[in-house]
Amino acid sequence: MRAIQLVTQGQPGTFELRELPDLEPGTDDVVIRVHACGLNHLDLWLEAAGLPLAVTLPRTPGCEAAGVIERVGVSVAGWRPGDRVAVQSNLTCGECEYCQRGDDSMCLRAELLGIQRDGGFAEQLCVPQRAVSRLPAAVSFEASAALTLAGSTAMHMLTNRATVRPGDWVLAMAGASGVGSSAIQIAGGLGARVISTGSTPEKRSLATQLGAEFVVDSTDATWPAEVRRITGKRGVDLVIEHIGGDVLAKCFD
Ligand SMILES: [Zn+2]
Repeated sequence: MRAIQLVTQGQPGTFELRELPDLEPGTDDVVIRVHACGLNHLDLWLEAAGLPLAVTLPRTPGCEAAGVIERVGVSVAGWRPGDRVAVQSNLTCGECEYCQRGDDSMCLRAELLGIQRDGGFAEQLCVPQRAVSRLPAAVSFEASAALTLAGSTAMHMLTNRATVRPGDWVLAMAGASGVGSSAIQIAGGLGARVISTGSTPEKRSLATQLGAEFVVDSTDATWPAEVRRITGKRGVDLVIEHIGGDVLAKCFD
């Protein structure tokens, strides 16, 4: 099988298209024929050595993969060759205290696909069976790959970490980003009134197209006052904040 591998880190790093042996599933693994893989900011951080993680090179990047199961390990139950699947980006252990209580995203022994093990910029991908989800026929591989990490993060924030009721004001930060663009659409689907932010007219226009009722210019330091004005000095019910630093502090204004 062929894979794109990062050979040396840098800005830009060095990539090579390589011919590698076909993957063999371990007893609990599935081997997937990759049909689409998203390009996530994690891939750029991997390339530029910008992650606080030890990385072994060469490494096949790609943390947002979707495809069709090709082979299964001997103890795999419930999955067969031919099944369409989405692949989780964060490969969790399923055994630690956090996994046991359903907080998989806090897993103590998680591995990031495409960072700590080879990812989806390849014709084949091998992951434990618990890392795959069934992909409905109506969802394309490309849409799945675009949603895997950013989309699931926004979904988790809006439906597990918080409750959105119809009519609530939701401020979705950075509406043109992966998490922000997903959050606008999910919040809108839950009946919220959505405000978003963007640093350029193009980004603000995209946020509007995705369903934001109002957009504010994040390069204007008075944007929190603008949000207060839009909401009649009431403020918003929920902020989807995924940027951090000064921006997080500004959200409280
Ligand atoms: Zn765990």
